Amino acid sequence: MAGIWVHGELAADGSLAKLSTEVATLARSLAGESGGAEVTGIVIGADPAGGAAELARFVPRVLVVTEPSTVDHAAGTIVAQRLAALIEERDPDIVLAGAGPEGRDLAGALSALTGRGVLANAIALRGSPDGPIATHSVFGGKLITESALTGGRGIVTVRPNAVTAEAADSPGSIETVAPAGELTQPAVPIIDRIEAQGAAASIDDARIIVAGGRGVGGPEGFGLIADLAEALGGAVGATRAAVDSGWIPYSQQIGQTGKIVKPQLYLAMGISGAIQHKVGMQTASTIIAVNRDPDAPIADFADMVVVGDLVEVGQAILAQLRERSG
Ligand SMILES: Cc1cc2nc3c(=O)[nH]c(=O)nc-3n(C[C@H](O)[C@H](O)[C@H](O)COP(=O)(O)OP(=O)(O)OC[C@H]3O[C@@H](n4cnc5c(N)ncnc54)[C@H](O)[C@@H]3O)c2cc1C
Repeated sequence: MAGIWVHGELAADGSLAKLSTEVATLARSLAGESGGAEVTGIVIGADPAGGAAELARFVPRVLVVTEPSTVDHAAGTIVAQRLAALIEERDPDIVLAGAGPEGRDLAGALSALTGRGVLANAIALRGSPDGPIATHSVFGGKLITESALTGGRGIVTVRPNAVTAEAADSPGSIETVAPAGELTQPAVPIIDRIEAQGAAASIDDARIIVAGGRGVGGPEGFGLIADLAEALGGAVGATRAAVDSGWIPYSQQIGQTGKIVKPQLYLAMGISGAIQHKVGMQTASTIIAVNRDPDAPIADFADMVVVGDLVEVGQAILAQLRERSG
């Protein structure tokens, strides 16, 4: 395999997205299984230096392109045009990106610009003599499928939290590259940036998540969930039932149509464990469910089930935690 490229996605403050460190880690293991293919990170943005330095901790070489227009425009299509020009010049076999909003935009535009196919939402990638094989979880996690790219070349997007990011033994080099190609595609201007409201901490990278479902009973019930999350130093998650009821913002939804999380501890309060919720949290290291129904489906995959009323159990846990913290 000639080369594996990793798109280094930048947050609004110029830092590297955690998802890109995961994708870079996956690229290294894929390269190891593909006869030592060269792994190169690509960082394109208005102020790429910080993100490039971070990505260089994970891959042996990073190419950096300064592109000022990403400050006030959605990055996907702009980055795709700069990246397409580099691909034309250097011809890597595989381009990997995160399967978040920017990576999805990027992959679609890049496919149109380069004519290369896309495998979307991979949860794993392994090498084969004919190119990488991507694993996908489909039909809400009921089936696992494997797919390959035609001719072993193309674009793959990787789901968040599919792998644990691990830095390389030694940092890679960073090389500045002049922007190539023309920006001919329409760019989407950013009108405003709005902080997500409510429920404070982000669930994306949380090590502890206390999640509430319909059993919480209403928006005021999420007060107890938030207190528990705060006492444990974690974040608040929710099922779609709670989000659709307007009890908590969509940013906290976990599952097939929400986020996929991988905390150390997942405390599920009043959650039945429907398959569409399970696919978003099943890789948590430890799942503890509080449910008054001992036969709720979550009992089939939780590590521990506390059978009882969530308000009683939640308050008892909270009292213990507060006593311990003095
Ligand atoms: C296409 C599609 C996509 C979907 N995407 C998602 C998704 O991304 N995320 C998601 O979560 N769902 C999703 N769903 C919805 C999913 O199918 C379930 O309806 C949902 O997860 C149920 O949420 P719940 O567990 O909060 O509610 P319920 O299934 O109603 O479960 C409530 C649980 O609370 C328990 N309970 C009630 N009161 C108490 C109490 N006082 N103390 C203790 N336990 C109590 C009950 O015993 C029950 O087990 C999707 C559905 C579809 C069709």
